[in-house]
Amino acid sequence: MMKLGAHNSIAGGLHNAVAECQSIGGEAMQIFCKNQRQWTAKPITAEEAKLFTDAVAKAKIGPNMVHDSYLINLGTADAGKAASARGAFLDEYKRSEQLGIAYLNFHPGSHVHEDKKLRDDRKVRDAALDRIAANLTTVQDETKGFRCKLVIENAAGQGTNVGNSWEEVRRILDGVGDRKRMGVTIDTQHSWACGYDWVGAYDDVWDSFKDQVGMDTLVAFHLNDSKAECGERVDRHDTIGTGKLGIEFFRTLMNDRKLDSKVGYLETPDGPESWVKEIALLRSLRK
Ligand SMILES: [Zn+2]
Ligand SMILES: [Zn+2]
Repeated sequence: MMKLGAHNSIAGGLHNAVAECQSIGGEAMQIFCKNQRQWTAKPITAEEAKLFTDAVAKAKIGPNMVHDSYLINLGTADAGKAASARGAFLDEYKRSEQLGIAYLNFHPGSHVHEDKKLRDDRKVRDAALDRIAANLTTVQDETKGFRCKLVIENAAGQGTNVGNSWEEVRRILDGVGDRKRMGVTIDTQHSWACGYDWVGAYDDVWDSFKDQVGMDTLVAFHLNDSKAECGERVDRHDTIGTGKLGIEFFRTLMNDRKLDSKVGYLETPDGPESWVKEIALLRSLRK
């Protein structure tokens, strides 16, 4: 069965996320490993890391995921900004490895081209995808032997986001140096918002995913219902069962045997009090 959890808070200390995960009935968790709205943070001390890893081991939760900072754009064409983004990403990778985290999940990035007409220009988008792959390769070269996987989260297609489609995710995967250290998260809301019709054509969506990315590369889901319509290209999560994806989609997903070894983290808007109910609801959908 797919393991279930949510994005838990590290307020007051990294180890506090473990207690929150348990309080909502989670089997695994996603966290930020620093304040996600700031570029830099103090190093994690050995004591803090041990407090965290001991709590994780005692609670027997995992695989656990770090979500990178929203500030990082590995797709930028600006050399100075790219260096900052790489530095911040490398720091998050080292923190994740230090904490024994299985997956560092990141948003692919944006091409940020100033000409709005070029939002969907193939060459502009491919150049950004190739820059992302090159930046990832540089980070991998500096972290030989790391066990934590770098995990691409498909984008909703807002603004100049790249990595919306399976084809674009694949282009990044094909361009990185160490393909074995890569994984993919499917955000159910993002994929729906960028045009994958999970409700009307569930099997077709999987066929295209298998063709472009493959089931072995898929490691996780962000389980979110959607306030946006299919294809609207807006990143707006909703509570499970109350959005446009709806309960029948989640019933199908929870009973899809090929996903039994994957893990799903909620990023829905109502916090722990709702997550405990949403996790119970998802479990109740299983036959
Ligand atoms: Zn997500
Ligand atoms: Zn989102």
